[in-house]
Parts: sequence; structure tokens; C-alpha cells
Amino acid sequence: MTTSTPIVIETDVPILTWFGVGGGADMLARPASIQELRTLLGRDEPVRILGEGANLLVDDGGVDGLVISLENICDVLELEEGGLLCVEAGADLPKLIIETVRRGFGGLEGLGGIPATIGGATFMNAGGAFGEIFETVERVHTFDPDRNQRSYYKDELKYGYRTGGLDGHLIAAVELRLTEGDPDKLRDRLKEVMAYKKTSQPMKENSAGCVFRNPLVDGERTSAGKLIDEAGCKGLREGGAEVSDRHANFFITREGCTARDILKLIDAVRERVLKSAGVELETEIAIWRRGDMQ
Ligand SMILES: Cc1cc2nc3c(=O)[nH]c(=O)nc-3n(C[C@H](O)[C@H](O)[C@H](O)COP(=O)(O)OP(=O)(O)OC[C@H]3O[C@@H](n4cnc5c(N)ncnc54)[C@H](O)[C@@H]3O)c2cc1C
Repeated sequence: MTTSTPIVIETDVPILTWFGVGGGADMLARPASIQELRTLLGRDEPVRILGEGANLLVDDGGVDGLVISLENICDVLELEEGGLLCVEAGADLPKLIIETVRRGFGGLEGLGGIPATIGGATFMNAGGAFGEIFETVERVHTFDPDRNQRSYYKDELKYGYRTGGLDGHLIAAVELRLTEGDPDKLRDRLKEVMAYKKTSQPMKENSAGCVFRNPLVDGERTSAGKLIDEAGCKGLREGGAEVSDRHANFFITREGCTARDILKLIDAVRERVLKSAGVELETEIAIWRRGDMQ
């Protein structure tokens, strides 16, 4: 006879985000397999999916519903010799980049310096000047908004600038098509990307990367960081939250910072940019608040 151990649901758990501030989860589960994930999704309450927390602000009051961390669903399977990988959503992107580069598989090295799980990176089509993850995505395996398992080939998705076109879905695994390349050249490219990030971003501070999406101004994607800088916001502070001097679209946290400080700084910067450039900025970071799922 086989007996299955019930999935542990922890209560009042801190949520670790890259901002390093904010409240916790009333309930949090860390399923060990897709099977356990499916069982959790059979429950009634609303769920929130937690990746690395690198693009997330959780309000100081914490969140209701069930937070599901995919940290233990992180296997990487080679489907085909020569570069088709199936990566479970909780796998760590930076580790995967290092491993694929070492093995001479190219395609992810332009995403160096982006902290993420594969699921989180695919959800928002993470990337920047050196490429984006959808350049390598071939197929995405999900639970759809009705919590049914559903897979999509890339051309079935409306992915684009910082979106994978998968709102309301839970990404369980992603198939990535990488290309064979010379490990030394791939490593050099990764080093170049990392060197650029080190000089242009406050990588040693707590932040969530870019706070705002780059807006369309007269039909052209325009740097939010530039608009924030031109509005005189570099160094602007609200409590312990501060606009970085190095990259104006990064907000960094100082001792004593709260989520409330970051939210206030978001409002202050948005107002200044609206005044100076006539552009209304939209947040890129996900913001979780108690009651926002009802
Ligand atoms: C120093 C620094 C540099 C950064 N640089 C970049 C950059 O250059 N380019 C860039 O694009 N981003 C950048 N970011 C932001 C961040 O790394 C990316 O947005 C990343 O994709 C977030 O992934 P995550 O796993 O941490 O997601 P989380 O922050 O945990 O979650 C973000 C959102 O995605 C959802 N989500 C997460 N996993 C899943 C899943 N499996 N299924 C469905 N939804 C899911 C969450 O529910 C949430 O709404 C940076 C962040 C930092 C801290």
C-alpha cells in the first residue's frame, strides 16, 4: 500500500524578495513536484506564484490566499542532443546560464545579471539590451486560469516587451531551444554582459530591477530611467527608499525601509515624470497586497 504525505502548508511565513522589505504570506506551500502542485491547485483559495522575488513588492501587511513557491520544482531535462532543454519553472536562471555556457549551449548568455526563476523570467519575458528569454523559448507548459494543464507553442502566445502573454497562468515548465556554440566565446560574451550590468546598475544594493516599464512615447519605446533622471529624481528619497544614482529606474532600500516607503516613492516619481514629460509611467514590478485577489 502506498501512503502519500500531506503537503505542508506553512502559516505566517516571511516572503523573501530582492527588495528585502515587506510582509509575509498567511499561507505558503513549497510543492516538491508537478503532481503536488496539481493537488494544491485543486484547493479553493486564490493562489499567488512566487519565483525568486526579484520583481516583486509585497505590501507591509502581507498577503492572503495561498502563496506557492516553486523553488523545489526545478529539474532540467535535456530533450534532444544539441540543445532542446525542458526546464521546470523553479530552476534558477543565473545557474542555468552558467551551466549552459559551460556546456557550449548558447542563447541565454545575454540574460546574465538577471536574477530569476525560469518561470518568472518567462512570465514577464525578462531581458534587455542583450536579448530576451523568448528568443529561446519554444514551448511553455502551464496551468491555465481554470487550473487545467495546457501547453502553448511560442507562436500561440502574444509575448512582447516584458510580457510572456500568460496572464492568469501558472508556468510549470519551459522548453528552451539553445544553439551549440564555442564555450569560450559564450563565456566571453557573458563576461561582457555582466561587466556592462556592473557599471550601469546598482547590483550590490537591494532592488527589484526596473520599477517602471519603458513607456511608448510617440510610438517609440522610451527609457523610463532617462525620463526619471530628466525629471531630477536621482537620489530622491521617501523614508528608506531611494532612487538609485546609478540607474534611475532602480529603487534601492536603505536601513529601516518599508514597502510603504517604496510605494510612496513610486507615486512621487510618477508625479514628477508626468509633470516634466507628460508621460504616465506604469509599474513593471508586481505589487502584492492583502485583498487584491478578491
Ligand atoms: C539586480 C536586478 C537586476 C534586474 N535586471 C533585469 C533585467 O535586466 N531585465 C529584466 O527583465 N528584469 C530584470 N530584473 C527583474 C527580475 O529579475 C525579472 O523580472 C525576473 O524575471 C523575475 O523573476 P522571479 O522568478 O524573481 O519572479 P518573481 O519576482 O518571484 O515574480 C514576479 C511576477 O511573476 C510571477 N511569476 C513568477 N513565477 C511564475 C510562474 N512560474 N508562473 C506564473 N507566474 C509567475 C509572480 O506571480 C509575479 O507576478 C532585475 C532584478 C534585479 C533585482
